[in-house]
Amino acid sequence: MTAYQERIPEGVAYADGEYMPLRDLQVSIADLGFTQGAATYEVAHVTNDRIFRPDWHIERFLKSAEGLDLSLEHDEAALLGIMKECVNRSGFNNAFIWMGVTQGIPETGIPRDYDKCEPRFYAYAKELYGISGEKGMSQQAVSLAVSSVVRIPPQSVDPRYKNHHWLDLRRAQKEAHQNGYDTAVLVDRGGYITEGPGFNVCAVREGAIVTPVGTVLEGITRRAVQEIASELDIPFKLDRLTAWELRMAEEVFLTSTSGGITPVHSVDRLPGLDPKARTTTAAIQDAYRAKHSDPAWSVPVNA
Ligand code: PMP
Repeated sequence: MTAYQERIPEGVAYADGEYMPLRDLQVSIADLGFTQGAATYEVAHVTNDRIFRPDWHIERFLKSAEGLDLSLEHDEAALLGIMKECVNRSGFNNAFIWMGVTQGIPETGIPRDYDKCEPRFYAYAKELYGISGEKGMSQQAVSLAVSSVVRIPPQSVDPRYKNHHWLDLRRAQKEAHQNGYDTAVLVDRGGYITEGPGFNVCAVREGAIVTPVGTVLEGITRRAVQEIASELDIPFKLDRLTAWELRMAEEVFLTSTSGGITPVHSVDRLPGLDPKARTTTAAIQDAYRAKHSDPAWSVPVNA
């Protein structure tokens, strides 16, 4: 084993009907998923041996694959079975489950022959890490910048289909780090807030949760927040949000599978987000945590 392979975190992968150590999973460099970003993926999480909302993840995965014209031979039941098996074989109690489908390699060798490809499905489980790279999910608040980077417009790449077009998100994350922020949120061409590298953003304004629509991935965690808000009688609005409205919000939090509900302690270093006033964020965090053991919201991996 090479030093590089030793550093790959252990996990269990699935491809072509077989399970294997994660380090043995291979994707060809000639796959259009690599050369053209012709791929979609999905990330679900497991806490205490239960998969959180696999139904929502599978639904979004199928929608993304269809939207990007990537055929999948697995149905919902088969996908759930593979998700469970990867986790069971890996032995992790807390894990990420990644699933993806790539366009494949054109039989003709011509990279524009999309119809002559056999899409390939992969999945793997690996240990859970938080949005800041720590083990498990962190509740620690982060600093957020409104990035100078404009998000790829939905007319070019539809953000509702989960994709690997991460160069704008990556640029915004690098800019944020260079300027001393934890992370950043990108704007659209009209200057409205969109989303960040791997998360949706929610602002609390006059007691209502407001989150952008149309220019973002429809996050599973955000969907959970919407349901929880309705249970808790907190108004929830899918609406446009200007950078200024975000800066002036009473509370701001990020939502993602990897970080859960992540409070924001400042936007563009402006004072005003008082940690003691984070009552809506705290209520959502508590309810979101509790949902992980609720049988209506999660499925045991070994049943
Ligand atoms: N937006 C983008 C661009 C993302 O990559 C993610 C994470 N996959 C999210 C939002 C949050 O979505 P989810 O809650 O489903 O993890």
